Amino acid sequence: MSAEHQSRTVERLRPFASTIFAEMTALAVAKGAVNLGQGFPDTDGPESMLEAARDAISQGLNQYSPGPGMPVLRHAIAADRARRFGTEYDPDAQVLVTVGATEAIAATVLGLVEPGEEVLLIEPYYDSYAAAVALAGAKRTTVPLVAEGAGFAVDLDALERAIGPHTKLLIVNSPHNPTGTVLTRVELTRIAEIACEHDLLVLTDEVYERLVFDAPQLGHSAGSTPAFSGHSAGSTPALHVPLCTLPGMFERTVTVSSAAKTFNATGWKTGWALGPAELISAVRAAKQFMTFVGGTPFQPAVAHALDHEDAWVENLRRGLQSKRDVLSTALTKAGLDVKESSGTYFVCADVSPLGETDALGFCRSLPDRIGVAAVPVTAFVDHPGSWKTLVRFAFCKKDAVLADAAERLLAL
Ligand code: PMP
Ligand code: GLN
Repeated sequence: MSAEHQSRTVERLRPFASTIFAEMTALAVAKGAVNLGQGFPDTDGPESMLEAARDAISQGLNQYSPGPGMPVLRHAIAADRARRFGTEYDPDAQVLVTVGATEAIAATVLGLVEPGEEVLLIEPYYDSYAAAVALAGAKRTTVPLVAEGAGFAVDLDALERAIGPHTKLLIVNSPHNPTGTVLTRVELTRIAEIACEHDLLVLTDEVYERLVFDAPQLGHSAGSTPAFSGHSAGSTPALHVPLCTLPGMFERTVTVSSAAKTFNATGWKTGWALGPAELISAVRAAKQFMTFVGGTPFQPAVAHALDHEDAWVENLRRGLQSKRDVLSTALTKAGLDVKESSGTYFVCADVSPLGETDALGFCRSLPDRIGVAAVPVTAFVDHPGSWKTLVRFAFCKKDAVLADAAERLLAL
């Protein structure tokens, strides 16, 4: 965006004029590159879900749905969580349907954080968190993930140190975009203790809750070329632990998720927030004046998928796990230092072994150089420091697309 146009944007939104996903997707389209930048799948969700949306339109479900979302979807969301995690949410008072997880995140911050209060983020963080904090006139503080083995862990001491008298809300995201880190029960338990000790509210972004893989076996032996050797049958699967299930957390946690990643439906923008009634009514107060309601015909369709498509989702999860391995192998062969990804659509890799010093410059040149697009992890941080040479690649693509990308990457 030109400086002249940007000067009309309110000051608090100026840093958010364009997203890295929009920039890299535009570049991929312009250069005809394989787009491993923006995380969206290139195949559709379960057929029965698509059919249910078509039926809903044919049956005339084309007007506003109720403000909190259609009862059929709110019940399905609560039942799905009860089945998988044993949590009890009242579909009427404790479940709110939103326009994607993005709206649930913004409405949570707007509904629960006063201007000037602080929101604590773990960096790298998904870009919409900082924008939501800015919309609310609040302040953000960050604490880093730090290297642990071939992957990452939360710097728990830094987390505790970063909490001050004005800290109101902590945002946690696991499985984590952009790194693919799945926080362990031990880490989450300590985060929960800290949140309780300091009486923080917590927003937990669990959009990748179903996309959790076996830990990969990364052959990073000292002194040798790193070789990605894939996950082994005996490796311990990472487990998704919802933060709200830990002691003291239910009453202080807003859990956010969406149909986007679970059912390959990123364009349906159907998400939700779950939590105790007093928190959810605050989220609803903001949400109802952002969009009032989301698209009606998608809601019974997502309800149907939550009720009936567990096997489809398990198949998706397995497929993504092997796509992670394919892309990790390709990146390793191309000379990058691949980090461990235990979930999501993404794997990160360090480009410094290629002599690169700047992930953003690398990503801006990549479509032209080899016909592949990716995003720099620096777009997800306030303190580039150790992230300067890390690049995020999305593997939620057809096998043929990944094979094409793998071949192109060899040119590096
Ligand atoms: N949170 C994270 C961590 C994401 O990666 C995304 C985007 N895929 C979202 C939230 C937004 O989800 P939605 O498309 O449902 O708004
Ligand atoms: N969540 C997707 C990603 O991380 C992109 C969403 C968007 O384009 N804003 O790639």
